Amino acid sequence: MTRVYNFSAGPAVLPQEVLRQAADEMLDWHGSGMSVMEMSHRGKEFISIYEAAERDLRELLAVPANYKILFMQGGAIAENAIIPMNLVGRKSQPAVVDFINTGSWSTKSIKEAKKYCTVNVAASSESRKFTAIPPRESWQLSADPAYVHVCTNETIDGVEFHYAPDVAAQTNHAPLVADMSSHILSRAIDVSKYGVIYGGAQKNIGPAGLTLVIVRDDLLGHALPICPSAFDWKLVAENQSMYNTPPTYAIYIAGLVFQWLKRQGGVAAMEQHNIAKAALLYDYLDSTDFYSNRIEKDCRSRMNVPFFLKDESLNDTFLAGAKERGLLQLKGHKSVGGMRASIYNAMPIDGVQSLVDYLKEFEKKHG
Ligand SMILES: *Cc1c(COP(=O)(O)O)cnc(C)c1O
Repeated sequence: MTRVYNFSAGPAVLPQEVLRQAADEMLDWHGSGMSVMEMSHRGKEFISIYEAAERDLRELLAVPANYKILFMQGGAIAENAIIPMNLVGRKSQPAVVDFINTGSWSTKSIKEAKKYCTVNVAASSESRKFTAIPPRESWQLSADPAYVHVCTNETIDGVEFHYAPDVAAQTNHAPLVADMSSHILSRAIDVSKYGVIYGGAQKNIGPAGLTLVIVRDDLLGHALPICPSAFDWKLVAENQSMYNTPPTYAIYIAGLVFQWLKRQGGVAAMEQHNIAKAALLYDYLDSTDFYSNRIEKDCRSRMNVPFFLKDESLNDTFLAGAKERGLLQLKGHKSVGGMRASIYNAMPIDGVQSLVDYLKEFEKKHG
């Protein structure tokens, strides 16, 4: 068996230990004589898997007791609609929602929210081609928005918030809503600074098909009448994410990833590891003008690193050579171009070192 280094933005690399355990347990989970895929979501075996996953995630992120953890479906893109359908009802209609536009994913969230509310783009870095996060003091927040939305790691553009923006004072205590799809569990966060945290699992948690929502209790129970019942956070919470059949196998794998993270020392230890991996790659990119990363240094993503070859006519040669060395999925998103290396929790430092070694070798040959 050969395993490659997979730099895909998502679905993405998973810890090998987790995949091995899942393989061992595939046909017979813990003597049940069944695969997890075959279990009733209401049976005691699956309930124990679900409860352990919920408990471990709560522990890993230190989720306070007044927050619910929901295991949903539809991905972050569905949440872009589900969030306004659950939150704008707290205000008289049409409600205003503030957005900070920091890249492709924020732009998508804005477009979807416009179906349900009046959008105020309080700040945008679009004119800077999303290479920076607009300084907090420049944000033109509304006096009483239903919520303030940020994407704390822009997977495509490669910018990351390295702080939790404080918006309460200017917005009549509007909840901060964060799309953390591509960096959740990569760093320690203070959940209490957010009203809602959400993300698809397929970047840094587990398989596609599972969407995590962490929501403060007081934000439940305000869904618009048009909100589908399966997407009404209050109903989902009251039914332990089993108002309808949850993505059972994806929850099981996510649970194994949570256990793996605990064995690694938790999120704080993982953050140190991620800082070291990102530094290895950025330091090399910065050391030569054969390659470049165009993101402001104070908001470079530790998870998604876009970079360019100075001579873009070498792109295909670069990718072909990378593939020969088992370094896969390095082509940048079509909207940005160039290359992108996604180095999530499950990417070992040896993978990043192999990439840096290849960058050096390629430069030597073509520089
Ligand atoms: C991948 C991604 C999405 C889209 O997630 P889906 O699961 O495809 O709906 C949204 N936001 C961010 C930040 C992402 O990385």
